[in-house]
Amino acid sequence: MNYHISTFGCQMNEADSQRLASELERLGLHASASREDADVIVLNTCVVRQNAEDKAYSFIQTLKPLKWRNPDMVIGVMGCLVGVRGNSLLQKAFPFVDVFTAPSDPQPILDLVIQREGKQLASLEVQRHTALQDEQVPFLLPENERGVRVTANIPVVYGCSHACSFCIIPFRRGAERSRPESEIVDDVRSLVQQGVKEVTLLGQIVDRYGYDLARSDNAVRAYNPGAASGKPSVPRLLHTPLVQLVRTLSEIEGLQRIRFLTSHPNWMTDELLDAIRELPKVMPHIEVPIQAGDNEVLDRMRRGYSVDDYRALIERIRSKVPGVGIATDIIVGFCDETEQQFQHTYDLLEELRLDVIHIAQYSTRPNTLASRKWVDDVSPTEKERRFRALEEQHERITASINSSYIGKTVEVLVEDQHHGKWRGRTPNNKLVFFEDAAHEWLGQIAAVKVRQTGAWSMQGVLDL
Ligand code: SF4
Repeated sequence: MNYHISTFGCQMNEADSQRLASELERLGLHASASREDADVIVLNTCVVRQNAEDKAYSFIQTLKPLKWRNPDMVIGVMGCLVGVRGNSLLQKAFPFVDVFTAPSDPQPILDLVIQREGKQLASLEVQRHTALQDEQVPFLLPENERGVRVTANIPVVYGCSHACSFCIIPFRRGAERSRPESEIVDDVRSLVQQGVKEVTLLGQIVDRYGYDLARSDNAVRAYNPGAASGKPSVPRLLHTPLVQLVRTLSEIEGLQRIRFLTSHPNWMTDELLDAIRELPKVMPHIEVPIQAGDNEVLDRMRRGYSVDDYRALIERIRSKVPGVGIATDIIVGFCDETEQQFQHTYDLLEELRLDVIHIAQYSTRPNTLASRKWVDDVSPTEKERRFRALEEQHERITASINSSYIGKTVEVLVEDQHHGKWRGRTPNNKLVFFEDAAHEWLGQIAAVKVRQTGAWSMQGVLDL
């Protein structure tokens, strides 16, 4: 039996799909590159913006003829389109879909596969007692990725309880829930056994990892960083559970690199920044969205910090973590965003010169505070213009930052080959290519002297 998973959206969805693939392979199914050859097809959906949701609907429609041709096929739809509370309208709209399931919850799909194919699976499973399964590896990579996949994403905290006014995620992924540390450590150990060298720990606000687990025994509210600036209360705990987690993971032999994303400006503790600087396996790479560079817009977005808070944070990160790569997210055209407010965002980005900017055009999402309170009144043409302006600025700034690497030697963890060149990333997440037909570099760290740079990548030669 074969399965095929199509994944839209964020790294969290990719990780969820990988977990599902792992469980399907445990049942004896094999990955199929084409949907036509699959007995089980799963679409993992994203609804963060309207166009992602529209794409999901069109994709589901394309499954209808496949089901018509093969009525025994299992079709599953998971992810944010379904949401944690389910969505009964979907069943009515797409009766040919067999199962709808929430983000990060593959179990209903697995149950249906077992129920439909019980006998066949039982015999297949007996044949498939591989060495890894006998050792009860908790996270088995899909067969075609074992020994080949160098990096992997591991969700550590599901959901989000922040409720930014534009964001649908808390409605679809539910409240914040951290995974127990022991479970994450087991996952990472098993991935390392299967060849993975780098893990990225995922959470909507990853810095909040463990606070819900630790609430009973962690020292309570130590101080309120917002108090000094007169900002709304943003309590912090004395200890950062994410620091404890990365310390534990750092001790896993064979694991070479640890990253985490996405951070929230209010939860980036000094303890965490110190850990990045001190622990050699924790990479100097931080993704910390600002979303807008204007205080009024930030207030309406309910982000809980000001432009000056963010400016101070970037300064703090840079002073504590030398050579750090910083990425941010920006939404252009949020409700009532004036030309001047957009200009504030533009000017702030010019000043901060961050390494990566993920830019999105605002679109209204159901149930959010913004959808109930304000009108999506910036025209599509104006949103596009603001988007392009930031894109051009980003390309110019990144090209300039990257050009400062020419002549320097960087450490590249090689992830794969692309058009005959080895491809990997530096500790601060710069993409680097180099040629070496004589040696196998997959999963190795190469010292590469940078010769050429552009906005999105660098080219170099081995520095032997
Ligand atoms: S922090 Fe805000 S933007 Fe991020 S997932 Fe939570 S609600 Fe959405």
